Amino acid sequence: TIGVVAIDGRGNVAAGTSTNGANHKIPGRVGDSPIPGAGAYAVTGVGGAAATGDGDIMLRFLPSFLIVELLRAGHTVQEAVQTAVERIAQLYPNFSGAVIGVSQEGEYAAMCHGMKEFPYNVAKRTKSGEWEVMEQRVDCG
Ligand code: ASP
Repeated sequence: TIGVVAIDGRGNVAAGTSTNGANHKIPGRVGDSPIPGAGAYAVTGVGGAAATGDGDIMLRFLPSFLIVELLRAGHTVQEAVQTAVERIAQLYPNFSGAVIGVSQEGEYAAMCHGMKEFPYNVAKRTKSGEWEVMEQRVDCG
């Protein structure tokens, strides 16, 4: 799954996913990626989030919705992504997945579980209009 969170020049926040689904998925399976709040979620004025991984498990926790609601409640992005992953890991310690979160102010963080590290990219528009892309990675501990 490719998950994206974007903030435009007017401060509108959007999130989305593109996925081929889980490997060896059964025909007709929907998965978490297209489900709002599970695969991705965004609220202008608050922030956005997106998720990848074991969709059949993650779907039950609406991790993207949770991240945005934690931001709304005043948590940092780091706290929000950490809590979202912990909630899942408490019940499914063997799950594999990752989430990204972005606040309205453009702060961002990612958290992962069941893999070594999770790579992601952050793109920012410079004053001259160029796109600056920074590769990031988070250690899944
Ligand atoms: N979350 C996707 C799914 O379960 C798979 C993935 O993220 O690679 O359909």
